[in-house]
Amino acid sequence: MAEPTFLPRASFQTLLDALARAGYRCIGPQRRDGAIVYDTLRGPEDLPQGARDIQSPGRYRIERPDGPRCFAWANGPQALKPFLFAPRESLWRSERDAGSAINFAEVRPASEPLAVIGARACDLAALKLQDRHFLEGPFADAAYGARREQLFLVAIHCTHPADTCFCVSTGDGPRATDGFDLALSELDDGFLVQAGSEKGAAVAAQLPLEKSAPAQRDAAEREIGAAAQKQARRLPGRNLRDALFANLEHPRWEEVAARCLSCGNCTSVCPTCFCHSESDRPSLDGTVSVHVREWDSCFTQGHSYIHGIVIRADTRTRYRQWLTHKLGSWHDQYGRSGCVGCGRCITWCPVGIDITAEVAVICSAEFGVRSAE
Ligand code: SF4
Ligand code: SF4
Repeated sequence: MAEPTFLPRASFQTLLDALARAGYRCIGPQRRDGAIVYDTLRGPEDLPQGARDIQSPGRYRIERPDGPRCFAWANGPQALKPFLFAPRESLWRSERDAGSAINFAEVRPASEPLAVIGARACDLAALKLQDRHFLEGPFADAAYGARREQLFLVAIHCTHPADTCFCVSTGDGPRATDGFDLALSELDDGFLVQAGSEKGAAVAAQLPLEKSAPAQRDAAEREIGAAAQKQARRLPGRNLRDALFANLEHPRWEEVAARCLSCGNCTSVCPTCFCHSESDRPSLDGTVSVHVREWDSCFTQGHSYIHGIVIRADTRTRYRQWLTHKLGSWHDQYGRSGCVGCGRCITWCPVGIDITAEVAVICSAEFGVRSAE
């Protein structure tokens, strides 16, 4: 990859202008309701300048603003998932005509060119997994595909991991290595810019970029290296499939079930979870029915309802299903684990259940490690 160039902080607006000229609506991080979330970015003044996030199991806080940086935080509750896999959408509708014949029509997904600014390495890794799930094989998902085609990604290399991050141990961060159109390293006075695609290079060509100095490149590298060093959490291995399936009756499943509320927060914030349910919404007069898909969670009773019985009737079996699928049988389906180490399920779990701590206990016989508990 070519040497990065430098975009002064005062010229950040030129990036938004170039993306707007290319037809994209810019989405970027903003402070909202005590968190950093993605929303339409009208200008650099919308960015969370100076914000730092403090995360720990079951806890998320934004510190008082300090300093010029706009991306000196780890991640918020959203990843890229809601922009591609809509939380709720209609897939098709059926309509009864005057002669009582029923006609079916696909509902074309609403989609527009979006440029997401601030994607992290873990979220790009999760996107790659979602691409495999929704786009590969004989039945590509039209709604996901339409949105994916129109997505432009501006990645930011992570320099401020949260206490809950463990992307180093899953091999997915903190540096964004591929899957982006542009990648930025944030420095106090601006950004080092690298293009990762032809689309990215075309946008970069419109920016007032300067040659980067060796000291700037060294500083950026040091910060990414320090971010990797800072991560204290980890999984005991990249492939836990056999260890987890050897421990399906471990007493820890019962212990974690006593704490778990089965609320599904962990699956909502997880950037790789794709479980959904489908239902039909008929009109009262019976002439029209719309088929709707919405996010679901393996923590709900209904998700395992089949032919009159709930297969996973208790929290123990639901938590076990989530963990053994995410870290175990994903290897059979997708050739790797379904966890990219973003830590969101730890932060946003209301009772602070920590996937790394649970796995450490459940797989302790195989890996010889135990949680700090
Ligand atoms: S399981 Fe947790 S840490 Fe892993 S990708 Fe999902 S939310 Fe992130
Ligand atoms: S692990 Fe936490 S977030 Fe997930 S369902 Fe249980 S209580 Fe909710």
